[in-house]
Parts: sequence; C-alpha cells; structure tokens
Amino acid sequence: MPASSTPTSLGAGQILAGVPVVPGVRYAPVVRPGRLPAIDDLDPGGELAEDKRDHEVARFTAAAATVAGRLRERAASATGAASEVLAATAMLAQDRAWLGAAEKRIKEGFPAVRATAAAVDQFVDLFAKMGGLMAERVTDLRDIRDRVVAELSGLAEPGVPVPDQPAILCAEDLAPADTAGLDPTLVVGLATTLGGPTSHTAIIARQLGIPCVVAVHGLDEIPVGTEVLIDGTRGTLSVSPDPAEAAAAVDAAAAAAAAMAGWTGPGATADGHPVSILANVQDGSAARSARETPAEGIGLFRTELCFLNRDTEPTVEEQASIYGEVLDAFAGCKVVIRTLDAGSDKPLKFVGHPDEANPALGVRGIRIEALHPEVLERQLDAIALAAERTGSAPWVMAPMIATPDEAKRFADRARERGLVPGVMIEVPAAALLADHILAHVEFLSIGTNDLAQYTMAADRMSAELATLTDPWQPGVLALVAQTARAGANRGKPVGVCGEAAADPLLACVLVGLGVTSLSAAAAAVTGVGAKLASVTQAQCRAAAEAVLTTASAAEARAAALAVLD
Ligand code: PEP
Ligand code: MG
Repeated sequence: MPASSTPTSLGAGQILAGVPVVPGVRYAPVVRPGRLPAIDDLDPGGELAEDKRDHEVARFTAAAATVAGRLRERAASATGAASEVLAATAMLAQDRAWLGAAEKRIKEGFPAVRATAAAVDQFVDLFAKMGGLMAERVTDLRDIRDRVVAELSGLAEPGVPVPDQPAILCAEDLAPADTAGLDPTLVVGLATTLGGPTSHTAIIARQLGIPCVVAVHGLDEIPVGTEVLIDGTRGTLSVSPDPAEAAAAVDAAAAAAAAMAGWTGPGATADGHPVSILANVQDGSAARSARETPAEGIGLFRTELCFLNRDTEPTVEEQASIYGEVLDAFAGCKVVIRTLDAGSDKPLKFVGHPDEANPALGVRGIRIEALHPEVLERQLDAIALAAERTGSAPWVMAPMIATPDEAKRFADRARERGLVPGVMIEVPAAALLADHILAHVEFLSIGTNDLAQYTMAADRMSAELATLTDPWQPGVLALVAQTARAGANRGKPVGVCGEAAADPLLACVLVGLGVTSLSAAAAAVTGVGAKLASVTQAQCRAAAEAVLTTASAAEARAAALAVLD
C-alpha cells in the first residue's frame, strides 16, 4: 500500500525512538502478529442441530489438520531450534487426546469454535495441575487453539505472520522461539514496544542480522500496512516517510555497510595489537554462516538455544553430533562452548525448573548442577566426544558462576575429560573475585548482558529499564576493567561475549580496558573489526581511561567518541 494512502493515527514523517539493537536501515510496510477476537465473539452460540454435527466434526478435523500442516511446512523450511519448536507444536496440533475431546463435544451439540476452546481448556487445566514439563505445554496448546479457531472462523492465522513480501514486523514483544523462526528475507526489520537491548529476542535478531529496535514508545499506534523506515543504528522508526528520501537512506546505509565489508581480518588495532574477533552462534547452521565472515573462531556457542523446545534431554550422541557441526564449521580455530545456561527467560523443559518468584536470581546456569549434576556430566561427555571425533580441542565455559568454588568444581569436571575450562563473568561477585576464580580456570569470558543486569539490579528484559542495562554504564565498565586486570596479572585471556562486544565503539573501549578477544553476533563481526582496525591501541587505552572517570552511560559514550571518532 503506498505510504500516502495509508491511514495512520500518527502523522506522516513522525519519528518514534527506541533502543537500537541491530544496525541496518530498511523501508517496508508494517506487519503484526495476528490477534484473535474473544471466543465469545466468534462462537455463534446455541446448540447444533443433530443433522449438522457430523459436518461440524469434519470441519473441525480439517481445520486442525490444516493448522498442523502449516506448522510442519514452517518446520521444514526452518533450521535448528526454530525447526524443532515448530515440529513439536505441529505434533501437538494432531494429538488424538484433545482432538477426541473436541469431537465429543461437537457430537453433543457444541459448535466447533466452542468445542475447540472447551477441549483445550480441559487439557490446559489438566496439564497445569500435573506441573513440570506438562505445564510448560500449556502455551503451545493455547497457541494451537487460537490457530484452529482462526481457521474455523475464516480469520488470518494468529501469531507471527509469514509475510508475502518484505515487511517490518512490529509487535509488543516476541518470544525467543518466535524470533528464531523468522525468515530474514521476508522480515527485514523488527521493532518491539517491550524488550531490552540484551533480551534473548534481541540477541536472536542480531544473529539473524535483522535490523532491530526495541522499547519503541508509540509503536502500537502504527497500523498494519503503513510504510516505515527502520534505522537499527540510530534506534528510530519514521512513519510514512517521503518514499524517495526513504529509498535514499536505505541506499546510503547499504553503501556504508559495503565500505565496511572491505575488512577481512584478522582482528587488530591500526598499530597491530592483536585482538581475536570471534562469533556468537547457537547451532551448526549459524556457525556455518559465521564462517562466511572474517570471524576467527567462536567465542560463545549458546548450547541451550539448541534445545529450547525439547521435552526430554537430548542423548549424549545427539548432543555430540550438534556440537560436532559447530566444531567442524570452525575446524582448526578457537571454539568456546558454553554449557547449558537454562533458566530465567530460557527455560529448558527437560531440566524441570522449580517455580520461583525471581527466576533471573534463581536456579539458572551452573546452579542447575546442584539439582541435576548428571545433566552437566552428560553434556561434558558429549562435548568431549565431539572433540574426539572432529579432532578439535574446544574450550568449555560455565555460565552464571558466582564463586571461586563453583569455578573449581566445573574446572575439575572439564579437565577430567581433557577439556580446557573457563567461566563466564556475569555476576558482580565473580568480577570482584576474578583473580581467585582465575586460580582455577584457564580463561574468563565476560557476559556483559547479565553483568549489566545484575550490577544495575535491572531486568534485561525490561523496556523501562533499558537505560540502566546499557553496557556503557560506568559501573559495569569498572567491573570489566577489574576482570581484565586480573587476567593480565595472571597472563590468562579475558574475552567479552556479551552484546557490548557488538558495538564497534564500545568494543574499542573494551580493548583499551585490557580485553583480549571480542565475540559478537556474526552480523556485527565486520563492523567491530573494521572500527578496531581504524584506531590505535593507545587511543583505545585513552578512551578506556576517560570512560572510567565518567558518571553516566551518556557521558561514557561521549568520552569515548571524543577519543575514537
Ligand atoms: C551475557 O549475559 O552477556 C551472555 C553472553 O549470556 P546470555 O546473553 O546468553 O545470557
Ligand atoms: Mg548471560
């Protein structure tokens, strides 16, 4: 639809601001996840005449089969975690138990829409009472109910749409599994009202290379079909801009990206100080894409993202084959595999997380080991097996380490299997005791996303708190400095694998603070490498010193710009 004829409740040319997450400029119409009207508004009411019931059962069965078929098609065209999520939902859509319950109701005289809702409610109650893994299927069942009801009512499928032309997806928020299933050739931009810059949705958007802005105030008022210009570098959305100006902005951004793409590595400052530039990946296919960039290795393999929708623990053999794909993609290079960081916004069904009031402060990451030591044992066995088969020597690291004791226990288990142990620094206590932790492990990797969350006591998922979880916060950078100093004193490497490493300017500051490697989403590797190659180590150090004297994130950015831009 042309911009000029689009009815918008926002004025043409109006600019909405949010928090930039993935750079890039795109111009396309808005699509939104479908919303289903209330069941009461869709249900015709009354009782079905007996002679209509068989036909209604057939209509219901066909609708459920159509929904399952669509999910299967999407599973076939997706990869990794996204494909598994979609395939499992497709199977649930054809589950005989709830289909039978709905058919029974239709035969008693319920119209199909009401029968679908009632049958799903029955199973939702049952699953919720059973708790654990079953309770976690409640969301999937409700999703299927909405899709079947939409199909029965002749409405567009709810949930994340598959657009038929390039579009910008605007939503209140998206689950990591929704984001993982996006096709970057069709969803060319992503904007959300909620979500922080380091939420896992934002991280997956970065891995897919989809320009993304989060925490956009006023986004809900942009109607579907409105042409918008999204600028993932500045963090803005222009509503119905002048089409010629929008096209020029897209071309200019593409030209700038092309100029930067001339950088081919390896990572170093302009005066030759080496800094490994690595990629963050979540499965074999992401690793193969990362291999196309100048990334020198993998600095963070988030293994939990491979299993987001697994009901049961993958076997050692299954795990070894997935890990082997990543090792194969970067044969002969450094690969750092992180053990499962399950919990908080990345629950894994097979871990059976306890109910907690504050899951981000609860049993997540390495803490799961206390409940299920055998899950970590088997994962390390699988990594060792993959290493043996591929002839590689991966490094392994544990997430959410808070104490030197935890680091020692993990290191012992990794060394027993011939693996090189390290830990993530994501908890302020660990940053403060980095020297004691380094007595037990070979390397540290700073997760600035969680380090910012825990240092600032601000939920990384919160849009309202996005300025607090900004990794430019001088309090966070002071902890990075302390950790890097501990590494330098012991002659052991200290990398950064949080989203801070994906910001070219901040990456130079991190190098100035003494960080020895930077690991970022593949889409950010070239930008970071190119920027680092344009400044000297002395400039990085001067910027780091300046930043450490500031009192706010804005001042820190300005101080770094003054030295590095
Ligand atoms: C981090 O916390 O910075 C990190 C890299 O881990 P994740 O984002 O997966 O929690
Ligand atoms: Mg983390």
